[in-house]
Amino acid sequence: MKRTMDTLFETSRPGRVGYALPELDVPAVDCGEELKGFCRAAAPRLPELAEVDVVRHFTGLSKRNYSVDEGFYPLGSCTMKYNPKVNEVAARMPGFSRIHPLQPEGTVQGALKLMYDLSAMLAEITGMDAVTLQPAAGAHGEQTGLMMIKAYHESRGDHKRTKVIVPDSAHGTNPASAAVTGFDTVEVASDAEGMVDLDALKAMMDDSVAALMLTNPNTLGVFERNILALTETIHAAGGLVYYDGANANAIMGKARPGDMGFDVLHLNLHKTFSTPHGGGGPGAGAVGVKNVLVPFLPTPVIGFADGAYRLEHADMHPQSIGRVRSFFGNFGVLVRAYTYIRTLGAEGLQEVSETAVLNANYLAKKLEHIYPLAHKGYCMHEFVLNGGALKHETGVSSLDVAKALIDAGYHPPTVYFPLIVPEALMVEPTETESQETLDRFAAAMEEIVAKAKAEGAEPFHDMPLTTPVSRPDETTAARNPILRWQFGDGE
Ligand SMILES: *Cc1c(COP(=O)(O)O)cnc(C)c1O
Repeated sequence: MKRTMDTLFETSRPGRVGYALPELDVPAVDCGEELKGFCRAAAPRLPELAEVDVVRHFTGLSKRNYSVDEGFYPLGSCTMKYNPKVNEVAARMPGFSRIHPLQPEGTVQGALKLMYDLSAMLAEITGMDAVTLQPAAGAHGEQTGLMMIKAYHESRGDHKRTKVIVPDSAHGTNPASAAVTGFDTVEVASDAEGMVDLDALKAMMDDSVAALMLTNPNTLGVFERNILALTETIHAAGGLVYYDGANANAIMGKARPGDMGFDVLHLNLHKTFSTPHGGGGPGAGAVGVKNVLVPFLPTPVIGFADGAYRLEHADMHPQSIGRVRSFFGNFGVLVRAYTYIRTLGAEGLQEVSETAVLNANYLAKKLEHIYPLAHKGYCMHEFVLNGGALKHETGVSSLDVAKALIDAGYHPPTVYFPLIVPEALMVEPTETESQETLDRFAAAMEEIVAKAKAEGAEPFHDMPLTTPVSRPDETTAARNPILRWQFGDGE
């Protein structure tokens, strides 16, 4: 594979075009005269290319990508399951893909019904009373949920509640969302079994507690066993309880956060409900609430009255936190989630969770003899390996193992997360993988560990050897990203 690839700006040749427009058959307008003040002084410096150059450029880029359509993608906490193609067929139907968000309600009844029905199905799956589909991602859903919690406390004149409690096993977005929403984040420790330490939590209770945010299964892949005691403890102190349900793949159809005392949750439709989301593609962080929070849901709320679906605005929902996303969120993701749920049905969703948990436990057992598990006993949909001993013994870090896996043809697991496990490797096989795929992956991991033990760290430092770029300087790339083409003249 050619190591470097020219950008479109480098391939560009002045005057080359990829289109053929008909002759102008209306009088030409001088944009500079007619639109004074709105017109650019000079034309934008766009690359000029033939159609074939553009197609080859993007096809070339796509071949350097790794996707779940190409191979196993066990990226923990991300649920990179296979996305059935029927979802794509539905999302591309012109009645969904070619409508405009400002069309009159009467002309988009089907799209409104889809969102109305999807909300109802998600409410049923999670045990909540109502669901908004507006947030564009999981973290955005967290912020939306916390804004509703804040509005709830303030509506009761309860202004002392400034604290959001987040366990040290929570997903990293939880404390970030609490901070963005203006809360102070307080951490509660996990006990030896990887569960929230209930006594430590009880000691933190006072009238400044606004909420507890719980990631469940937590980032160790463990179901919080004391969950009812946790929600009761927070409620007794006057706080509300937030459920981070981004990893609902483990419990869907089996257990409902709404039945465990949670007041608000988010789901990642782009994870559990099957939308391609590698590389930061569009997402949907649906948020479900119990009745206490229904008045605060973002507007417009999609309602049904007199035989028609309609958009309900702030006049009907005066306590609403308002709009959190333009129009209706990422509608295409909603169509995919709807199609996915309707295709599988209730039994199918249950089977998804069962198989996801079975696959994770199967793979964990196969790897346990070469890698200690961060948590003993059964896991849910994912598990965390502790690479500390391998690093100590051979000098081969989890980063090295991840790079070696790329050469073996796999997307690596999540590394160095959660932070509470040294040299963590977080593996989520998902339900869509066959036993043969899991066996092959386990064999690749065994081979890597055997090589580390036989040859030490040296041969690993140049890996991956099969990719156009091997080991980028990740720190500089993150701190000093170069995100746009620099023209030679300094622009
Ligand atoms: C992925 C994930 C999130 C964040 O979701 P985004 O869509 O990436 O914002 C939050 N919590 C958990 C547990 C997750 O796995």
